[in-house]
Amino acid sequence: LDHSSVDDLGNISVVVRVRPLSEREIQRNDDTIIQVISHEQIMMRPDVRANGQSAITGSQSTFNQTLTAKSFTFNAVFDQTASQSEMMDKSGVARIIAMAIEGYSTTVFCYGQTGSGKTHTLTGPPHLFQDQPDPFSEEHGLIYRAFVHLFDRLKEKSKSDCTYIIKASFLEIYNEKVIDLLNLSTFKKPLQVRWSRVAGGFYVENLFTVECEEFDDLLAVLEEGMKNRAVGSHGMNDYSSRSHTILTVHVISELQASEEGVYLSRHGKINFVDLAGSEMTKKTNSQGKTLEEANNINKSLMVLGYCISQLSDPRKRNGHIPYRDSKLTQLLSDSLAGNGVTLMVACVSPARSNLSETLNTLRYAARAKHI
Ligand code: ADP
Ligand code: MG
Repeated sequence: LDHSSVDDLGNISVVVRVRPLSEREIQRNDDTIIQVISHEQIMMRPDVRANGQSAITGSQSTFNQTLTAKSFTFNAVFDQTASQSEMMDKSGVARIIAMAIEGYSTTVFCYGQTGSGKTHTLTGPPHLFQDQPDPFSEEHGLIYRAFVHLFDRLKEKSKSDCTYIIKASFLEIYNEKVIDLLNLSTFKKPLQVRWSRVAGGFYVENLFTVECEEFDDLLAVLEEGMKNRAVGSHGMNDYSSRSHTILTVHVISELQASEEGVYLSRHGKINFVDLAGSEMTKKTNSQGKTLEEANNINKSLMVLGYCISQLSDPRKRNGHIPYRDSKLTQLLSDSLAGNGVTLMVACVSPARSNLSETLNTLRYAARAKHI
């Protein structure tokens, strides 16, 4: 593999998307405390109100941490007005797809509190997939757009000696159990994660993996998985904020390298990950349990945070990274580590009422950027 293209931008890039205020937030007069300063810079301004007046009342000193303005820089920042197609064009997903075609393991993951726009960004609103979906809807998320882009790229490329095989799988991790979203029976009988040298790392045993000859096959995987998820969760209230979904697209290319018929085979992949709500990490911590003994609400999310902070510390990144401590980090390990490429999309609410969660998300994102 040619590493030069990885080195340019680093192993992980981090972008932030700010969603618009919701109807409810507008109704309760919640004000916006987020300002997008430039294409790379975002500021939290809890010290001023939307009407320009100071939010610091007489009794609070300006040293009050929660009301201090803070600025963060990322690879890209998207404000309330950013469209779905702008996200596709400017977040770096095209680069991720190009890397996967070259044989790299890649991941696009959305991080943020429940209601911050993770599912909106990856998939778009649920009505898109009911009845007669409009293929040209502006509301389609990154996954749909990535599928379009992938097949466009492969069409261009297949004029050479290379043949491509696309396969896809769709799974969910709920309470450290791996469920196949393309196979409803696994809701009762979860799948095992195993490690194998032949597979080149961790893999899910017996996970249904569908060969996709065209765009519609790939779309069917997304639709089927979403439908099954709704059935499997039995309408449970906070199911989607507690679980992670991973839709994986495998790109296998075979290149005839010489006239004697020597074939080179490359296997790249893209994981699209819709994470559990980041507020779950705190709920886990507040139970006062350690990582090891945790029979917790969301071990995976905690371990992911831990792995990312280890990887982002130059003194620790070559040491032991505890991928094995959760299902999520096992399955993402190859794209987080040395030879992988990851795009983190941190999703935040602009509302004052979400100040502390937004600050947590921006700090987490800022730490990840150093990987
Ligand atoms: P999450 O998956 O992080 O819990 P959702 O994606 O479900 O959050 O978003 C919560 C609500 O906000 C949904 O109703 C969604 O349609 C809306 N929403 C999120 N992001 C945007 C956006 N960028 N533009 C318009 N509506 C959005
Ligand atoms: Mg969601």
